[in-house]
Amino acid sequence: MEIPFSESYKIKMVEPLRKTTREQREQWIKEAKYNLFNLRSEQVFIDLLTDSGTGAMSDRQWSALMMGDESYAGARSYYELKESIEKILGFPYFLPTHQGRAAENVLFSALVKAGDVVPGNSHFDTTKGHIEFRKAKAVDCTIDEAFDTEVEHPFKGNINLNKLEKVLKENPKEKIPFICVTVTCNSSGGQPVSIENLKAVYELSRKYDVPTMFDSARFAENAYFIKLREKGYENKSIKAIVKDMYQYADMMTMSSKKDGLVNIGGFIGMNDKELHRQCSTFNIMFEGYVTYGGMAGRDMSALAVGLDESTEFDYLETRIKQVEYLGNKLIEYGVPVQHPIGGHAVFIDANKVLCNVPKKEYQAQTLGIELYLEAGIRGVEIGTLLADRDPETRENRYPDLELLRLAIPRRAYTNNHMDVIAAALKNVFDRRDKITSGYNITWEAPIMRHFTVELEKA
Ligand SMILES: *Cc1c(COP(=O)(O)O)cnc(C)c1O
Repeated sequence: MEIPFSESYKIKMVEPLRKTTREQREQWIKEAKYNLFNLRSEQVFIDLLTDSGTGAMSDRQWSALMMGDESYAGARSYYELKESIEKILGFPYFLPTHQGRAAENVLFSALVKAGDVVPGNSHFDTTKGHIEFRKAKAVDCTIDEAFDTEVEHPFKGNINLNKLEKVLKENPKEKIPFICVTVTCNSSGGQPVSIENLKAVYELSRKYDVPTMFDSARFAENAYFIKLREKGYENKSIKAIVKDMYQYADMMTMSSKKDGLVNIGGFIGMNDKELHRQCSTFNIMFEGYVTYGGMAGRDMSALAVGLDESTEFDYLETRIKQVEYLGNKLIEYGVPVQHPIGGHAVFIDANKVLCNVPKKEYQAQTLGIELYLEAGIRGVEIGTLLADRDPETRENRYPDLELLRLAIPRRAYTNNHMDVIAAALKNVFDRRDKITSGYNITWEAPIMRHFTVELEKA
């Protein structure tokens, strides 16, 4: 008999989960103004809001944490992290920040100005927020295949080179601070970018004399997909593939809360000494001194180990196979999901499930609320609420995809939890025809509204 697949770790510490009743959940979601972010975590049974900062650390990381050096300047923990970044990603210069968006804030303060244009593959919301906040424009150059959930394409995070070259041709290089490549591409469904595409983007960036920046939150998951899907990489180690990827980047921002395998932290990596100097000033103003920048020493030590663990094949295989397991269950139940299944999450095509709910009543948000009511599972809307309003016209921007994202925390849940999630979604899917109305906004913030938006039943 063939030996079945199993996790590449065992469990040393557990955290209890609380079950709740449908009546309780109806009350709580109403009190939360139908915004899943407003729920208390105790009101949630399985929390798939995000895979950011929600993973479990290993025994090696916990012991590194205890050895953290909390010196203000020149801490050993800083040098451990510096060494890890240089060894795994290849950047000689780096600055620690408290998380990914802080890295964006510091780097963009040095590079992005009003009127600039930043081409890339579906910019993440905070990335776009930091660009638009500076009155610059993010231009999405993702391949068209990414916007059809049914098309099978191994690298749906890829950049369309014609779209990119058009932007590079039509704007003077002074107006393009960098090309932003997100690996894997969060906003298009955790979809990877191929080495071939990274190389081609880099070649265009040399041709037009513009640097490339990798938004790197899930760089290790991207490398795993390259190993599995790109010709010529099947026998390479993940660490070798990561090195191959980063030869095509001049700089990177990192949210360590994802593939860093820690609960908080981020950094900027760069090749250019002068850029490091410029960013250091902003880092000191916004984050902290250059050798801790918003992170405790112990967190830098745990991150140094996390980068090493997340670039191990066995860890990644366990991680991504669990996401796939959930995705395949949903496919078996007929629930329309994004194909192929992404690295960190399963994306439900809410427009196909709740076609009786008008788009302006937020289909994906409505599906998220229904799933919470069904079994206390919390996902997140990746649709019209997240897409925000056009900064000029203030009209709702209807994105090509209306998705409910079920993000799987790293090393936290078992496949039994995946079975619960799949069954709950099947129940919602089976009664989809009876769901005919969604929600209206009663209050929203002027930027990044989805975090704090308040809604009422339509
Ligand atoms: C999470 C994320 C960020 C922002 O990082 P935070 O740590 O949440 O501030 C930026 N880009 C991508 C692709 C992300 O997934």
